[in-house]
Amino acid sequence: ALTAGIVGLPNVGKSTLFNAITQAGAESANYPFCTIDPNVGIVEVPDHRLQKLTELVKPKKTVPTTFEFTDIAGIVKGASKGEGLGNKFLSHIRQVDAICHVVRCFRDDNITHVAGKVDPIADIETINLELILADLETVDKRIDKVAKMAKQKDKQAMFEYEILAKLKEAFENEKPARTLEFSEEQMKYVKQLHLLTIKPVLYVANVGEEDVQDPSENPYVAQVREYAAKENAEVIVVCAKIEAEIVELDGEEKEMFLQELGIEESGLDQLIKASYSLLGLATYFTAGEQEVRAWTFRKGMKAPQCAGIIHSDFERGFIRAETVSYDDLVEAGSMAAAREAGKVRLEGKDYEVQDGDIIHFRFNV
Ligand code: GDP
Repeated sequence: ALTAGIVGLPNVGKSTLFNAITQAGAESANYPFCTIDPNVGIVEVPDHRLQKLTELVKPKKTVPTTFEFTDIAGIVKGASKGEGLGNKFLSHIRQVDAICHVVRCFRDDNITHVAGKVDPIADIETINLELILADLETVDKRIDKVAKMAKQKDKQAMFEYEILAKLKEAFENEKPARTLEFSEEQMKYVKQLHLLTIKPVLYVANVGEEDVQDPSENPYVAQVREYAAKENAEVIVVCAKIEAEIVELDGEEKEMFLQELGIEESGLDQLIKASYSLLGLATYFTAGEQEVRAWTFRKGMKAPQCAGIIHSDFERGFIRAETVSYDDLVEAGSMAAAREAGKVRLEGKDYEVQDGDIIHFRFNV
């Protein structure tokens, strides 16, 4: 499964947030797999469409889809040189598909800041620099050899050299790889380098309780937003402390508490959704009398691959996908009505599944 890693300097609120995540996962009884890696938190992906489908279809049970966060503790300045848990930390980051970078934006004089004061941009740059230095090392390990071969007019080496040189220049200017543009062809090679700074990033601004309703009053948040905009990265504002309280509440209590706080959606729910889309993930549904269920797929996946997410037999024996879009189904009011209105399409093996499709797979066993 794809996973987003949570990183950040010490004392920024990572554990508080991660505990809220694992707590949220533990509250939902849908998962038979409860004993998992303590560094992995599984959460349900909030999706209002699932409730609507449940009302329409009235199944025996409703199952949301899930998403994984991985807690990556232990970054300190000097990690790329092996300080602290340095190398271990970097190898953990290498394994995640996206990065949620928690940044301290709350003021609380009782809580020590590692660098002595709250300065979100300096914090972000500290971590980013470690990642950039690690990537520079990756590039440096290859570039001399490739340069030699490129001089001898080796086509592949020339192709690689151009990319490596571009990366090296960016890293030396303290720019992450994700800010660079590459052709599709070049990107294939870049992917093989397993760079850390190519991964998509979401900045999580952790604010104090007083700023939850209106984070625009918090100057640190504005700084993070400005920084992220330059990198085309997204920012989510949370108050980790409040999130830890919210996960203790059940559905109705949660609604009321959020209303009191004057916010529509919990920070955790926003974080889940943003991480999900950062990874290019989308949701399709199956809807039967037994079960209405959400399934995660990668945008661009074809119908048979999506069938394979449910069971490999579905992919192997794929015949077709009876498909209706969420909006069409809701408008029709029932599956039968949608069918009558000609809204249920028979899609074949080349069909690219869309977010919100409700699918019934036909397959040979
Ligand atoms: P980590 O080292 O990044 O994992 O940070 P922790 O989650 O352990 O948090 C460090 C300290 O900051 C703890 O005492 C938390 O209670 C406190 N903290 C975390 N989030 C918030 C917040 O939103 N507001 C305030 N006031 N304190 C927070």
